[in-house]
Amino acid sequence: MAIGASSQSLVVRVLVLTGAGVSAESGIPTFRGKDGYWRNLDPTKLATPEAFARDPQLVWDWYRERRQRISDARPNAAHEAIARLAQCTDDFLLVTQNVDDLHARGGIPAQKMVRIHGDIFVTRCSRCEFERYDYEHDHEEGIPKCSQCTALMRPGVIWFNEQLSWNELQRVENFLDGGVCDVVIVAGTTATFGYIIDWALRGSRDGGELIEVNPEATPLSQFATRLVREPAAIALPKLVEEFTESSPQI
Ligand SMILES: [Zn+2]
Repeated sequence: MAIGASSQSLVVRVLVLTGAGVSAESGIPTFRGKDGYWRNLDPTKLATPEAFARDPQLVWDWYRERRQRISDARPNAAHEAIARLAQCTDDFLLVTQNVDDLHARGGIPAQKMVRIHGDIFVTRCSRCEFERYDYEHDHEEGIPKCSQCTALMRPGVIWFNEQLSWNELQRVENFLDGGVCDVVIVAGTTATFGYIIDWALRGSRDGGELIEVNPEATPLSQFATRLVREPAAIALPKLVEEFTESSPQI
């Protein structure tokens, strides 16, 4: 299938779901696996409301280090391939679990992307609605306090055991309600969260292609119509080229 082939009037809808594996190739450690450990601490235990309540300074130290690492990183071939796909698809949505800004820097416009686990560069109040975008405060060292209510500020990400943002969930639901997808690509995620599997299956219902890009098998693999057992930065440029190559000239 050639997506974006202008000779076809077919409306092409594509949903892409990405996870930490896509950013790992830009040098952002995943939470799971030995590279994710920080000062011998397990990130899946640091990224929790309980850890913040117990030791907000420790959690902030870790997040500032991650922010710095992300600022120093660059989008890789996977981010760029997904942005190309977005450009030449009629109806496109990227849902990323990554809190870094590499998809945005790779060229995906905000209206075509849902950052379901938040944005690491947002700092928000732990009590009121106040939040700020935080490149400019990164030199701080202590625990930031809210300028509106003086409560502790926290990173604007969704932690384990926290609710997803209703607004962002609604954007995914609206896209899924808008029709079936011709192609769903799930890349670089172990699909641990039930909602990722749910969206992938709903998006590809009624005969859509469900492609999994992951070096290892995941709970989603059994449902995929195509498995690509390669890292995202290797697999996605080839896949996108295959989908976007123009119709043969007559
Ligand atoms: Zn506040």
